[in-house]
Amino acid sequence: MRSTTRKPSYVVRPPTAVLTRGFDPRLSVGSVRPAVFRSSTYVFSSPESAERAFSIALGRTHSVQGESVDLIYSRLSHPNAEILEDQIVPLEAGATSAAVFNSGMAAISTLFFTFCPPGSSFVYTTPVYGGTHHLIHQILDSFGMLGIPVPAGNTAALTRAITEAKNLRIVFIETPANPTLKMTDLSAAAAAARAHPNLPLVAVDNTFMGPTFQHPIAHQADLAVYSGTKFLSGFSDMLAGVIIGRDSELIATLRGTRAILGNILQPDECWMLNGRLPTVSLRMNRQSKNAQRIAEALAAHPKIKTMNYPTLFDDPEQIRIRDEQCRFPGSILSFDLHGGKRAAFDFLRRLKITHDAVSLGGVESLACHPATTTHSEMCEEDLRAAGISDGLVRISVGVEDARDLLHEFREALDAI
Ligand SMILES: *Cc1c(COP(=O)(O)O)cnc(C)c1O
Repeated sequence: MRSTTRKPSYVVRPPTAVLTRGFDPRLSVGSVRPAVFRSSTYVFSSPESAERAFSIALGRTHSVQGESVDLIYSRLSHPNAEILEDQIVPLEAGATSAAVFNSGMAAISTLFFTFCPPGSSFVYTTPVYGGTHHLIHQILDSFGMLGIPVPAGNTAALTRAITEAKNLRIVFIETPANPTLKMTDLSAAAAAARAHPNLPLVAVDNTFMGPTFQHPIAHQADLAVYSGTKFLSGFSDMLAGVIIGRDSELIATLRGTRAILGNILQPDECWMLNGRLPTVSLRMNRQSKNAQRIAEALAAHPKIKTMNYPTLFDDPEQIRIRDEQCRFPGSILSFDLHGGKRAAFDFLRRLKITHDAVSLGGVESLACHPATTTHSEMCEEDLRAAGISDGLVRISVGVEDARDLLHEFREALDAI
């Protein structure tokens, strides 16, 4: 935020940058960590500064490099949002700026309402997060925004859908897909989008793998979208959303919509999320190692029909995308049980360490049955096409000792 003292004279790497940029202790009476600024409104340094701040906030003019612009009112922005938005940028390779929202869905809906006017279209991958599915079908559709679905992982179909779409504004990709872990080729999507006369934005829901294992902007996407509720915050104790972009103009436009929808992340939540950033890669690395051990150890269990996990892909196209896009396999796995819904419910009932709950990315392991919970708004046909069967269980692996988790999963599987 604002003036910065004692900056390193060389470019530091992300885990260092997240601890050193965007915050000047002198502006928080020397406090090593940021203070929380709960004010709803800010005192102007002069009427001229107030006029200038409004001109910039309303897009009538731009701030100049290094200019310190007065804050106005917390719905537009506040110090804790500014600090968080500055500190999160180095975690997303190729990004220049970020906007924070009070949930992942707030971020996603603001994205669509900002860049997709009525009568326009967008292409999106399926299956998509349950809330996004609801937004597309129950809300955007009635505003005249046409969603064009494409199955995750089908590069040819994605390229064709983008090329043929009329009045196309956004290509929205969730990769890996939830809960099947199917991966979609970001570079191919970006190439098709660049060749389209409408120059649609490529936005990637990077909640599952980012910001540690997958960097959409480095693969030519425009925006990386996050539910900060998941890995970024990491303790299942808050809601947040983030959009990070290569072009600060796009982020400024999103902030303009945010100011009117009133869905900026509140100061206390910004402060909490800010404190979680330096450990996100530590947590994700441990969670990914745990998940890999568990997925590979259980894959051949006789009760499991198929195990979905990136190191166990056997489709050459999926392996190619994985190797190009993801540094590590991540901590989400899902498996299809022999015995359908009864077997899946039986498995969930037997877990003691792992809780039966939706959400993911926290330090504690969670398991759920997607067909009857997170994905229950999908019709039978779409569920079948996406590979979300009655016997499918999704697990988000935490930072517990993997041996304890493996022990309880084996016991539960054996007992089904
Ligand atoms: C949780 C989630 C969201 C929505 O985020 P909220 O913070 O719950 O609003 C969006 N996309 C994905 C992939 C998610 O897992």
